[in-house]
Amino acid sequence: MQLRRSNIQKLSQTEYDVLIVGGGINGAVAAASLAAKGAKVALIDKRDFAGFTSQQSSNLAWGGIKYMETYEFGLVRKLCMSRNKLMRSYPSTVKEIRFLTTIKKGFRYPPLFLYLGTLLYWFMGNGFTRLPRFLSAKRIAEDESIINTDGSSGGFEYSDAYLYDNDARFVFNFIRSAMNYGCVAANYVTSLGSKRDASGWSTQVTDDITGDAFNIRSKVLINACGPFVDKQNELAGQKTDHHHIFSKGIHLIVDRLTPNQRVLTFFANDGRLFFVIPMGPKTCIGTTDTQVDDPVTEVTAEDRAFVLDNINARLLLEKPLTENDIVAERCGARPLVVEGEGSGETDWLQLSRKHAVDVNQQDQHVSIYGGKLTDCLNVGDEISDLIKGLGINLPYPKARWYGEPARQVKQEFMHQARLMNLDAMTDSSSSEVLSQRLWRRYGAHAFDLLESIRANAKEAELLIENAEYLRCEIEQAARREMVTTLEDFLRRRSKISLVVKREDIKASPGLKEACEILFGDEAEAKWNEYFDSQ
Ligand SMILES: Cc1cc2nc3c(=O)[nH]c(=O)nc-3n(C[C@H](O)[C@H](O)[C@H](O)COP(=O)(O)OP(=O)(O)OC[C@H]3O[C@@H](n4cnc5c(N)ncnc54)[C@H](O)[C@@H]3O)c2cc1C
Repeated sequence: MQLRRSNIQKLSQTEYDVLIVGGGINGAVAAASLAAKGAKVALIDKRDFAGFTSQQSSNLAWGGIKYMETYEFGLVRKLCMSRNKLMRSYPSTVKEIRFLTTIKKGFRYPPLFLYLGTLLYWFMGNGFTRLPRFLSAKRIAEDESIINTDGSSGGFEYSDAYLYDNDARFVFNFIRSAMNYGCVAANYVTSLGSKRDASGWSTQVTDDITGDAFNIRSKVLINACGPFVDKQNELAGQKTDHHHIFSKGIHLIVDRLTPNQRVLTFFANDGRLFFVIPMGPKTCIGTTDTQVDDPVTEVTAEDRAFVLDNINARLLLEKPLTENDIVAERCGARPLVVEGEGSGETDWLQLSRKHAVDVNQQDQHVSIYGGKLTDCLNVGDEISDLIKGLGINLPYPKARWYGEPARQVKQEFMHQARLMNLDAMTDSSSSEVLSQRLWRRYGAHAFDLLESIRANAKEAELLIENAEYLRCEIEQAARREMVTTLEDFLRRRSKISLVVKREDIKASPGLKEACEILFGDEAEAKWNEYFDSQ
């Protein structure tokens, strides 16, 4: 809480080169890139960082194989390159994963034709991943016995990538590195609108925790409000070439369905793609694609029935999945870019998920539309190039603003971890050894955790059962991760509330201690706020 208090104070005291409104993936990469290159950056979000769309994705970094059907080969090539760049930059976080797709007899394309498509896809990705395989129905049944191959004409397997932890943590790590480079960021700060005068922008904001109102001054304003970009532009008097329409998607999280680490892909009864995706000790099933007018969405009984019916028809489970098996749900609306005024008549299922940036040179105003987690590194670089073009000095244009620390740093970390026998302290409920997990989550800051554990072995204890979080990690989160509500911690810094049932979290004796570490005197109030609110 100290970090947030201090940042809130700084927000009103300085004039920034750039104010970014919105801390989803687009705002986060813009902040990390600009701050590392030497701009004076501030970032605010009305919710928690990644607290809206960017916490609801399918956690996939993919080259957009499905856009091959609409012949968008340029986009597919670009997304494949973005995926490769992410995998190279974050080898512990963005990992290759196999996608096994089963095709029903009579589907609009035969499996062999689709397999040839995956080969082309593989070439377009420079052969960066393992080769695709063609699979007969018999082979699918042998490799993945939970798939119901009745009526299947076969299928194929190819590679893309996924975020091993979760999207929100991935986004937060960009916010955190932006802060390392001097960006002043704060969550739960709402922009009420911005005005431009001769010397720049003045944005009126409220601190939603204290209710205080103040202004933030900046030369340039970046609108990275995701689904709310259009609304925010109205409040700043900006007219743009693009606007958003929304496609709702949901995911249901259930106990792990198969021990194999691969994504299972099916076509639902209505022809849409849906996935069975590994998520730590659980499985995540989704997604849907439904056009909605309002980006604030929720999972409806109809959505649940659609996903459960489709999955039960395609898997051979001991017992069909029911609503009682759902551990947690995710629901969000993809902001899709359309040019001009667009309309509801757009064939939105065919709309590709590319991004667009509108720049008002005269007003020094930038709006980021659409986008994907997959393409985030390009968005960060593109935004800093544009901001330079608006006259902001970037003294370190070549600064490296993304990626895991260098290989030697990792080797040194692993060496120290081995010497203190860290992995032997891994709890039996964990899905991987401690050294791997700590390195992936914290990079070079994982050294501080080793230091804590060396000083006191109790620091390596799990505080919440099945949660894969040690006492020393929670202490570090309290210092460095601007955890403002208990939900920030349970849902976004960690994925505890996605993989542990709510009643089990509530009953966990360690949660109260975690709250004390995170919130001090406010521990009980924050605990009540979380459990009373849902
Ligand atoms: C179901 C689903 C599945 C998806 N799967 C994938 C996938 O597998 N791979 C992939 O690459 N992409 C995927 N996407 C797309 C991707 O998640 C989104 O494109 C991306 O997260 C959008 O990020 P953003 O930063 O533009 O928006 P957001 O994450 O919504 O961020 C905008 C932020 O602005 C803040 N804000 C709004 N108004 C204000 C205000 N007045 N003041 C201050 N802050 C404000 C919001 O609180 C929010 O945090 C998926 C999307 C959905 C919905």
